[in-house]
Amino acid sequence: MTARKFNFNPGPAVLPLEVLQQASKDIINFRGCGMGIMEISHRGPQFKQMYQELISRARKIMNLGDDFHILFLGGGASSQFYMIPMNLLNHERTADYVNTGTWSKKAIKEAKLFGNVHVAGSSADSNFNHIPDTIQYSEKPAYVHITSNNTIFGTQWQQFPVVTHAPLICDMSSDFLSRRFDANAFDMIYAGAQKNIGPAGVTFILLKQGLLEKMNQGLPTMLTYQTHVNKDSSFNTPPVYGMYIINEVFKWILDTGGLTEIEAVNDRKAGMIYDIMDQHADFYRGAARKDSRSKMNITLRLPSETLEKAFLEQAEGKGFFGLKGHRSVGGIRVSMYNACPKEAVARLADFMLEFKKQQ
Ligand SMILES: *Cc1c(COP(=O)(O)O)cnc(C)c1O
Repeated sequence: MTARKFNFNPGPAVLPLEVLQQASKDIINFRGCGMGIMEISHRGPQFKQMYQELISRARKIMNLGDDFHILFLGGGASSQFYMIPMNLLNHERTADYVNTGTWSKKAIKEAKLFGNVHVAGSSADSNFNHIPDTIQYSEKPAYVHITSNNTIFGTQWQQFPVVTHAPLICDMSSDFLSRRFDANAFDMIYAGAQKNIGPAGVTFILLKQGLLEKMNQGLPTMLTYQTHVNKDSSFNTPPVYGMYIINEVFKWILDTGGLTEIEAVNDRKAGMIYDIMDQHADFYRGAARKDSRSKMNITLRLPSETLEKAFLEQAEGKGFFGLKGHRSVGGIRVSMYNACPKEAVARLADFMLEFKKQQ
């Protein structure tokens, strides 16, 4: 096998090596049952046992209250952009959205199909380089929607807003389980798996019973949350393989020491890169405002596009992969999700210092 690269891909992204090693066995023979994980029935005992582990690990990691349902659905986080307003909004009501960039904008676009949208805060005027300082809610929103980490712009809510007058819904796709947080303060959380917890093709969803009771009736069966709640995500064939990987990643998170330890490691990793940016601020120019910096995706520009190109070329030569910034920001983006090893970040930090010195 060729050596694994230092993978800084923004998503799909690096997964823990232990998980991949285990998966490579279970693909052929899942826990000694003589069939691979992708070959077993979602109605059979092996799947049911795995599902129970997955649910109890999720509850343990986040210390979830009993009023939360846990769902695993297909269609990506992007399908939640329309499924949420379809189930919760109508043309007599308004939903509040905080616009923090590309993903929020996509969510807003879909919500407008089903009802009124009030943009409660936005940093569009500064190319989304920060989390809005002030948020102004509408009078009686059907719900409030935020995006916890903005994968493309490299910003992240440092503290979540306290919302007591309406259900709070969060797209946590790109920082889910990367830090301690109070899940119970939200009414719904969703996250595409492919950034922090698994492969593409499955979306992790937390949904409070109270929110479920407010939902619209008469929608297509597959687009009704209640359908999936009633059947423990197995109304139709669920994304078995994705759920399997998530279960292994959850085990890895618990073995690592839970969110406390995961957060500590993520703080250290992000610190290594931000320290260099702060020490050489005229060369490594952070795209995000300091008070909004993401610990998952660090966005930066160099003094010229020529230098950025040289940086990316040399980086690839040294085995660093996935560092090109998104076209709407340009430059460099260092995505360092949970499974990105500290050593990889340390090596990248060394390279950044070395590259700066050459100039
Ligand atoms: C990647 C991402 C999405 C899109 O997820 P899909 O699973 O590809 O639909 C949505 N929101 C955020 C914050 C993301 O980072």
